[in-house]
Amino acid sequence: RKLFNANISNQTSNMKEVFRSEYRVVTRKNEMRWIEATGIAEFDVEGNLVIMSGCHNDVTLEKAHNNKLFELAYYDEDTHLYNRKMLEVHLDESKKQQQSGKLMFLDFYLLEQLIAIYGFEFSNKVINNGVEIVKSIFDDSVDYYRLSSHKFAVFLRGEFTDLTIKRMIKNILFELEQLQEMMNFIVPVVANMAVICFDYRERLSGAEIIDQSYVALELKDEKQKSNIVFYDESIKNEVKKKLFIKNGIQMALDNEEFFFLYQPIIKSANDEIAGFESLIRWNSQEYGMIYPDDFIESAERNLQIISIGQFALREGCKFIKKYNERNSSDATISINASVVEVVQRDYGDRVLSIIEENCISRSSVIIEITESLMLDHGDEALSQIRKLSCAGVQIALDDFGVGYASLNNILRMPLNEIKIDREIMNEVMIDDNVKRFIKSIIRLAHDNNIAVVSEGIENIEMIAVSKDLDIDYIQGYVYSKPIEEKCALKYMVKDITG
Ligand code: C2E
Ligand code: MG
Ligand code: MG
Repeated sequence: RKLFNANISNQTSNMKEVFRSEYRVVTRKNEMRWIEATGIAEFDVEGNLVIMSGCHNDVTLEKAHNNKLFELAYYDEDTHLYNRKMLEVHLDESKKQQQSGKLMFLDFYLLEQLIAIYGFEFSNKVINNGVEIVKSIFDDSVDYYRLSSHKFAVFLRGEFTDLTIKRMIKNILFELEQLQEMMNFIVPVVANMAVICFDYRERLSGAEIIDQSYVALELKDEKQKSNIVFYDESIKNEVKKKLFIKNGIQMALDNEEFFFLYQPIIKSANDEIAGFESLIRWNSQEYGMIYPDDFIESAERNLQIISIGQFALREGCKFIKKYNERNSSDATISINASVVEVVQRDYGDRVLSIIEENCISRSSVIIEITESLMLDHGDEALSQIRKLSCAGVQIALDDFGVGYASLNNILRMPLNEIKIDREIMNEVMIDDNVKRFIKSIIRLAHDNNIAVVSEGIENIEMIAVSKDLDIDYIQGYVYSKPIEEKCALKYMVKDITG
């Protein structure tokens, strides 16, 4: 009523001709209704109000609808906590109001297991009880968010020491563990946590801060589970680099920052060059040399690996053509292919057309795939691989021994080559059981016309064992590290024993 009256007197004293006002009333049945009043006022020459006319509309439904939309946009449906979008809004607001604070990100990474075992209804009860517990630890000034199915955040405005935060976290975990006993479920309540200082002076948007927190949570994942990472200077750079890598691949492609090194693969029978494996590198202006283990996964996630793969194949074909022309040889080029590439429907055709463009024989190209490819994407991938194999392109199984190698899988694939992983070769050197196992695999491979390559061979002893095991090709630092194209073109096998 106060606001409405103020609105009216504002109207009359400022001689506004059109006005709009919104207010709530309680009906006799004790229902709350929203009213929108719009009106026109007429004033005489001296500014006195002559007449006021208008209408009152019941806008309760519209209002409810807007509220519902607001809720859908900014709240998590199951817990009625704010969602990620609202955290972005709150962070941006805090920045404007020059208020700093602390953000706790909690990733209850086993929640999906809980849902898988107990279903949604029970899991939602657990989550909602958990939320109540956490809320009881803090006061009213704190906001809570559910960012995704198992990621949550708490925003504490104001100053807090790390010690206080650590105590709070300990408290949260302790209380949540009680929940497991209380509700009697078997999935442990564990979380990866990241604590981020929100400093309004840093020119980061809410969305950017949340991005950082996700990377910080992943860092925790890689080190030890169920612990806290404090996002301080020491890991800030690590997180920044990861974010740079995640977001910078397209730019690197555009700026031609990717290039390929070539590592020789040697025939064990006569120490001649059998071929080269192409290995990608990213020469970044910001971070110098970046290795594939740091970016292939990101590139797979956003499908840029498809362009990278085509680039690798084009460059590899050009290189091997040049190499074979110069050296009058028939060396092969091995190209690593990612699952994501191979499951594309036109993968086989594209590989064949790139080989054709470069006028080299199909059998001089070896496509290296991994076992996970066959496990996760059986049929689509297999049909592309078969197409290539039928056309004469060679297929190698990379990193043999580190995955869930099943002989069944291996024999289903049209393989020309198996590459035994470096770690397995290291075990072969010290464990006779592993050696016997690998020996029988090699026999099986040979019986099926499949050649065997040993990877990561670093010394003469490993060469001797490879030869003893009847391995066909050897790859490793003992002969050469991956080298630049111009060195690879004139590479000569060094006399190791001499
Ligand atoms: P990979 O295909 O198994 O390649 C062998 C890795 O072992 C290479 O690491 C190579 O530099 C390293 N290596 C070779 N010999 C030795 C040795 O004697 N000792 C040791 N310690 N290491 C050795 P790199 O170049 O870092 O590549 C890592 C992985 O990244 C590759 O493993 C491959 O899976 C992937 N990758 C590389 N280039 C590409 C590419 O163009 N496309 C795709 N999709 N993946 C690629
Ligand atoms: Mg490889
Ligand atoms: Mg390998």
